[in-house]
Amino acid sequence: MKLVFLGPPGAGKGTLAVKATVLLKAPHISTGNIFREAIAAGSPLGVKVKAIIDAGKLVDDGTTIELTRERLGQGDVKDSFILDGFPRTIAQAEALAGFSNIDRVINFDVPDSVVIERLSGRLVCRKCGFNWHKTFNPPEKAGVCGKCGGEIYTREDDRAEAVKKRLDIYREQTAPLIGYYREKGLLTDIDARPQVDAIL
Ligand code: AMP
Repeated sequence: MKLVFLGPPGAGKGTLAVKATVLLKAPHISTGNIFREAIAAGSPLGVKVKAIIDAGKLVDDGTTIELTRERLGQGDVKDSFILDGFPRTIAQAEALAGFSNIDRVINFDVPDSVVIERLSGRLVCRKCGFNWHKTFNPPEKAGVCGKCGGEIYTREDDRAEAVKKRLDIYREQTAPLIGYYREKGLLTDIDARPQVDAIL
């Protein structure tokens, strides 16, 4: 099964993908995670994208398409994958159609107020990537991941200014993909207001 998870930042795509990847035995590909790993490693890609990501803007289509094309060319994702955070523009969706078929696009439907509440309290483990939340799911020991003992931090792009920017960009550049995929008969809407534990 080849799936795309589509939705605004903070909709719960990544959290649901971590669960779905085990159930469906489909590798989870998050372009955001790939960029963050590149930044942490200080690779040329990481150096190139750090300021863009911290500001909540989109990395250019050329770089993102090439990275995803390369990842989808690997053997483990020949029959199944969950793409989380790609495509984010019509140009990316058109490029994707040229190098992979997609079975279904899951559209995470959630209002801005919920997104802002989730992102402003989100805490991420630097080591295992698990998402905690200051109010809804706080770690037992402040600053320490209860899953792996790693350090917990607030993503630079979860700060208020960057969140606003990301939502604006989502509306302008990513939301048109809802109509694009609905027209192709590929879209399934889910109500992403409940916490992920209540969905899957
Ligand atoms: P995410 O973890 O999916 O919220 O992605 C974090 C950041 O990585 C985004 O705000 C963008 O700056 C960048 N990014 C991730 N995926 C894409 C994409 N498909 N196109 C452009 N930029 C992306």
